[in-house]
Amino acid sequence: MIISESKVLTEEHICPHCKARMSCCEAPAVHVGDGLGWGSDVLFICLNDACSLFLNGWQNIEERYGHHASYRYMELPGSTEGNVMMVGNKDAFKGSIIDPEVIAKQNERYLKEQAALAALDSCVADKNLEPVLTLILDEAAAIEGRKRAVELLFALNDLSCFDAIRNHEFRNKALEQGTNLMLTAMLKKNFKKECPACGEIIKLQAKKCMHCQENLD
Ligand SMILES: [Zn+2]
Ligand SMILES: [Zn+2]
Repeated sequence: MIISESKVLTEEHICPHCKARMSCCEAPAVHVGDGLGWGSDVLFICLNDACSLFLNGWQNIEERYGHHASYRYMELPGSTEGNVMMVGNKDAFKGSIIDPEVIAKQNERYLKEQAALAALDSCVADKNLEPVLTLILDEAAAIEGRKRAVELLFALNDLSCFDAIRNHEFRNKALEQGTNLMLTAMLKKNFKKECPACGEIIKLQAKKCMHCQENLD
């Protein structure tokens, strides 16, 4: 998930009922008919099983509504206004706890992808391989941008891209194939080949690898 304002993740919310630190949770999907939902990607919820609101809620709801449920105390980001969420068991919301570090990493990756995409148009003129490599090697990036990056390899004609690409494990096999075709075309254009023994890029006409001394016939 991408959270536009990741600073909310580091907010500290304390439950007024039990003084426990509340958990940052992904807001539940809004059901049709629920209106606008919470207006936030995340909610802070007290998931302390010893919280008095939660413990007393079972009896409260049983008496008032006749069903088996309880409450969890909840606050929205940037607010200390008290809300409650109805839960049917003690594990509700525990699966949607957000690890701020994980989200921060995801956000960082996303921003890098966006910056790389923005740099694609000028990367050939700038002789800048970096955004192209960033996209090709980012398995989480959108495929359209990665395909565009592969197509720019030939125009960039920077053979220093080989090591990073050859050492990358592609999850998208079609993209890997397209990339390999592009690398082959780049070698041809530069009258080069990869040494079958050590992988270094050498002259196409070399009979012996200058790096590993392998004989190439
Ligand atoms: Zn509590
Ligand atoms: Zn070699």
